[in-house]
Amino acid sequence: MDYQAILESIYEDIQPYLSQGKVATYIPALANADTNSFAMSLNLLDGRSFHVGQTQKLFSIQSISKVFTFTLALQRYDKELEKFVGHEPSGNPFNSLVQLEYERGIARNPFINAGAITITDLLTSANKEVFEEILSFIRTISHDESITYDPNIAQSEAKSAYRNYALINMMKSFETIKNPIEMVMDTYFKQCSIMMNTEQLSKSMLFLANHGIDPISNKSYVDISRAKRIQALMLTCGHYDASGDFAFRVGLPGKSGVGGGIVATMPNHFSVCVYSPALNANGNSLAGTKALELLTTKTGLSIF
Ligand code: GLU
Repeated sequence: MDYQAILESIYEDIQPYLSQGKVATYIPALANADTNSFAMSLNLLDGRSFHVGQTQKLFSIQSISKVFTFTLALQRYDKELEKFVGHEPSGNPFNSLVQLEYERGIARNPFINAGAITITDLLTSANKEVFEEILSFIRTISHDESITYDPNIAQSEAKSAYRNYALINMMKSFETIKNPIEMVMDTYFKQCSIMMNTEQLSKSMLFLANHGIDPISNKSYVDISRAKRIQALMLTCGHYDASGDFAFRVGLPGKSGVGGGIVATMPNHFSVCVYSPALNANGNSLAGTKALELLTTKTGLSIF
């Protein structure tokens, strides 16, 4: 398969879609993103990689960080984790409060904000310096020690995070959050503002595409059943209330972030990351989703 030619044809096809979405403005530091930017990187398990567009451009990974923190939490808590956070799609927006109240502070899944904040709290209980652990894990699986976070983006989100504070306060009232709110939110904002490009992010997902084993280092990060569970949740919950639509159009486990990135895996074949900052109404990259739809259509490869 000529992946490079496929990526190049996708790059041409998505041009009309770039201007159709809207960048996230509820985090002021994201509001000025250039909607013409587009990048796509694909890594095969055999070590080859293919790239198109501005694949060196760094952007904040936002909710893609939830895949990394969920992986760390599974490593640490395994089945115990089910007591603290569910694994059903929420059918609600990423920052919705409604379900959380009637489900008594237990978040539906680790990829909505309430669930991700719970995961960060659990990791904090085990390690007060957890942000260093998250960053170090991301650097290791991306094979890049230069990765870091942008304090301006973290601060910008902290200043306008009314909903996230509402979520954590509600959970605290149900006693499902154990650590001080500021301590958990500080880590959460930092993990969301980690800056990566599509080359690094695509590489970081290789271990999931390969049943938990990084094919570059041959190191195992999760066993086969945890790799299955992480990707099952990416498929069913990775795009919030548009997860069904993403599965329907793309047919791959994926995780989006409001910074405009989407990562996806095709188990046994490849990992991929696409970046385009203008979002659709559900907060997922509009042209990015289209690009992944074109990828599975043109390659004939999806999990179905
Ligand atoms: N930092 C963002 C928030 O908490 C992440 C949301 C996302 O990427 O979907 O609102």
